[in-house]
Amino acid sequence: MPDCPSCGKQWHYKDTLKQVLRRKKQCPYCDRAVYVTTKGRWRESTLQMVPLLVWLPLVSFGVAPVIYIPIVITIFVLMYFIIPFYTELSKDEEPIY
Ligand SMILES: [Zn+2]
Repeated sequence: MPDCPSCGKQWHYKDTLKQVLRRKKQCPYCDRAVYVTTKGRWRESTLQMVPLLVWLPLVSFGVAPVIYIPIVITIFVLMYFIIPFYTELSKDEEPIY
């Protein structure tokens, strides 16, 4: 789990998960605004691409939608729950690239 760059306390999984989709996050301990680092954004983006990378070959090989849609949705949900493990925080907003 990420450490707050302002107060240094480690966030709990639940706190991190609640703020996965927010660009500007708020530390639950010191209430200061924190941002995901450039490296953290790359990691999150890569994890968000995994369902697409699974979906593409399934569609290419003619797998029926009844089969691939639940698989892709399951992987998407799994990635959402995995992202907090790869989140890194910074005091300042860093450039995307
Ligand atoms: Zn803090």
